[in-house]
Formats: sequence, C-alpha cells, structure tokens
Amino acid sequence: MKKEIVCSFCGKSIKEIDKLISGDNAYICNSCIEMCYEIIVKDYSFPSNDFIIPAIPTPHEIFSKLSDYVIGQENAKKVLSVAVYNHYKRLKSNQDDDGICIEKSNILLVGKTGCGKTLLAKKLSEILDVPFAIADATSLTEAGYVGEDVENILVRLLQASDYDLNRAEKGIVYIDEIDKLARKSSNPSITRDVSGEGVQQSLLKILEGTVANVPPQGGRKHPNQEFIKFDTSDVLFICGGAFEGIEEIIKKRNGRKTIGFNKDKSKNEIIKNINHEDITKYGMIPELVGRIPILSSLSVLNKEDLVRIMTEPKDAIIKQYKKIFRMDEVELDFTDDAINEIAESALKRSIGARGIRSILEDVMIDIMFDLPKSKISKCTISKEIVLNSKKEQNLDISA
Ligand code: ADP
Repeated sequence: MKKEIVCSFCGKSIKEIDKLISGDNAYICNSCIEMCYEIIVKDYSFPSNDFIIPAIPTPHEIFSKLSDYVIGQENAKKVLSVAVYNHYKRLKSNQDDDGICIEKSNILLVGKTGCGKTLLAKKLSEILDVPFAIADATSLTEAGYVGEDVENILVRLLQASDYDLNRAEKGIVYIDEIDKLARKSSNPSITRDVSGEGVQQSLLKILEGTVANVPPQGGRKHPNQEFIKFDTSDVLFICGGAFEGIEEIIKKRNGRKTIGFNKDKSKNEIIKNINHEDITKYGMIPELVGRIPILSSLSVLNKEDLVRIMTEPKDAIIKQYKKIFRMDEVELDFTDDAINEIAESALKRSIGARGIRSILEDVMIDIMFDLPKSKISKCTISKEIVLNSKKEQNLDISA
C-alpha cells in the first residue's frame, strides 16, 4: 500500500493542508512554515541585550561637537554633555552583573522659544548616533481621551530606528512644551487643570521606565490590536519648555526685587537660579519633576548671538545660501550691516532664532528667482536690500 504523505513537522496529511513542500525524505506544510517564520522574525525583533552601545564620547568631546552647531548656551551644553555621557555609561554598566543599578537621569531644558532646546536634543542624538523623536506635549492626552496617546511618542522612536526595537529602546525623545501641561495653580485643590495633570500622570511611567504596549502603526489603541512591548528604561527623555513667567516664582523664592534696566539680561540672570521647587510651583506635579532630575536653563538670545547663529555654525544659514549660489557659479556675500539688520528684525519678532529663516527667505526670494537666468558672477546683499524687502512685505500686507 502506498504510504500517505504527511507534514514531517505536524503530521497532518496532505488532505488537511493547503500546500506541502517536499525536501529530501521530508515534507513541510504551509502552517508549519508560517509558524517557523514567526519564530524567526520574533527572534530578530527581540534579541535580548545584544545592542552594542557605541563608543561614548567624553563630555568634552560632546561639548565641542555641540558647539559646532549650537551658539552660546554654554551652561546647557555642559550639563547635557555630562548627563548624556553618564546616561550611556549607565547603559553599559547596567549590563554588568554587580547588582549596582545606576538610575536614569532625564533632562529638563527651560528657555524661551527659538533659543536652541530642540536643536541641542537633536544634535546630541546625531553625535551619539541613536534614534531621535520629537513629541509635542500639547498634542498628548490621557489614555481614553481624544488625542494622541502618550505611547505614540515611542512609535516615533520605532519609526526613527526602522522598527529596530533594540535601537529604539536606547534612543532620545524630546518632549516640547512640557510647561503647557502645568496645572493652573500650585494648590492642587483649586482650579485643577485636569487634562494637563492627567497627561503628566501618563508620562510618569514612561519617563521612569516601564514596558509599554505600543501599537506598531501608532494611532489609538483598540482591543485585538497587536502590540510591541517597548521597554523605556534606557530611553533618554529631554523635556523642554519656556515656562513663561517662572522668573516671578524664582524671584519670590530668592526674595529679590526686579532689576529693570535690561529686561533680557536680568531675565537670564534670574533664570540661571531655577530649581526643581520652582518647576513644581509652576504647576508640574512633584512626581514628574522627580523623574527629570537634571535641570538646565538656556538664555534669551541677543542680537550678537543671532548674528553668530547666521554665520558661525557648520550648517549656518548664510553658508547654506552661499552654497546654493555657488551651484549657479555666483559668489554670494552679505555686508555686516545687512546681517545686523536681519538680526535686529529677528529680535523684534521675539521668537529667538526661529525668525531668521523666514526673514532671509523674504530677502532672497526675488534674487533667487532671477539667479539662473542672470549673467552675474557676484551678488552682495546690503542693508538697503534687506530694508527694501521689509518695505515690500509691508506693502503686501496693506494691499
Ligand atoms: P526651541 O526648541 O528652543 O524653541 P529650536 O532649537 O527649535 O528652538 O530653534 C529653532 C532654530 O533656530 C534651530 O533649528 C536653529 O536653526 C536656530 N537656533 C536656535 N537657537 C540656536 C543656537 N543657540 N545656536 C544655533 N542655532 C540656533
């Protein structure tokens, strides 16, 4: 009698299965292939502890690399260099079996809009070659409410690491506008800002370190969905916020009177003294503040800083424009007073260095429009050109 062909793995007969693949004296059915595939994929996605932590640059090296791109903010650069160095040393040492577990040190950056908080976090991730994700605290909601779940922050890290879970778990997350989650009164019993406080509560766990269930594609969670188990113990969270008006809290604590002659200078002096107590007074819940032990303030940028930002960093915007012009074989130059004028305009917008790009775009747009068909070999941007472009914009607005 002819022997019935069966799957050599599960023993099912050819009648019970869709496809059977034959090898030398053995058969495998489609269900067993699928099962083996899942085992293999799972092993690739979740290898334990085999992430090779890259060679960690010293705090001096980190500081110097940051300084190639970030102007001023020396104190924040120093604090970050040490904190990040220790963070990645901690990851290395926690792979030892000596029982000493170094606690993680998330970071809080306090500084006005456009002074370089996001830039610092992003450059750090580039220096360390780890995945980086940005989240806006204002778009986050407590689980169960309409909006974005806190776990979606982790989805972005996964995306930034091409779904390599191990790399993602060692990444850096920048949470912007954390101050917007502050409850409106430092007395928790009055005017509780429930939504902001709820998000602070939701953030607690992932900042501290937890195994979160992350929907691989992001979006809202729903039952029957498959989750990736994402361990946040080694993720470095850098939170940032302007903490508008916190100077008053700091002054009160120090019992100091307002110094009125130079607003920005005195603000910089006051904010340097910020501590965790001020952050709690501002309306962040103490449990969350406790999970962000490293605190640094960034100063308000002045005109000289803005001039340097336009010209000095490796990827300074003026250098970028020069490169674009060179591609059309035109040498581009800016007079000093043109650069000063742009800095002055940016300063008036009170959005730090953020205004520079759009001001420059307005100055350059007509010139760049005509550049490829022009026969010129040199182009100098003077103060008059900058002022004219400002006038034209005013006309546009009133038209
Ligand atoms: P923040 O996060 O503090 O609001 P960003 O880091 O997003 O500000 O800054 C916006 C842009 O302004 C940056 O992409 C960068 O081009 C420029 N910029 C801001 N601060 C600095 C700085 N200190 N050094 C160099 N460039 C800066």
